[in-house]
Amino acid sequence: MKILCIGRNYGLHAKELGNEIPDKPVIFSKPDTALLRNNEAFYIPSFSNDVHYETELVVRIEKMGKSIEPQFAHKYYSHITLGVDFTARDVQNELKSKGLPWELAKAFDNSAVVGEFIPIENRPIQDLHFTLVKNGQVVQTGHTSDMLFKVDEIIAFVSKYFTLKTGDLIFTGTPAGVGKVDIGDQLVGKLEGRELFNFEIK
Ligand code: ZN
Repeated sequence: MKILCIGRNYGLHAKELGNEIPDKPVIFSKPDTALLRNNEAFYIPSFSNDVHYETELVVRIEKMGKSIEPQFAHKYYSHITLGVDFTARDVQNELKSKGLPWELAKAFDNSAVVGEFIPIENRPIQDLHFTLVKNGQVVQTGHTSDMLFKVDEIIAFVSKYFTLKTGDLIFTGTPAGVGKVDIGDQLVGKLEGRELFNFEIK
């Protein structure tokens, strides 16, 4: 399986990092070794002093597809969760300044946290609230209506380039409020008030 991620998909987050609002989705990927599940602890890697959480809606692909039309994209998923796109911001800033790819900052082991998947059922995917609670305080609040590129548009876009396969995950971007994690932090992700992940930083 592969993990595809979209960067700068919420205007306020793009601005907080000093980036322009993109006119096309900004896509990067993570290998399957980036996955961290079942509320296992996240260990801050030795190569970074500034690892940031980025809380994101994650969509799981359930059918193979290529060049999917946006109006059919909803047929390719039925489960979602919240995840964390851990980012070594210091490493990323250095790579960005040199115009280099982001993998070392974004795709390292355990950098793709996923929570418990839940069926979408009748929930409108572009009308979902989510929060990240760090040590008991809400630090990120997102609403999927604020996505610059909607889930179905993202699927249509990425499937022009990459065949989507069952089990692939799409991280749909983070709202504003990203920040550093420290040893001992507890991160809880809630979608529409329901806790989907709860893990510790070590
Ligand atoms: Zn992200």
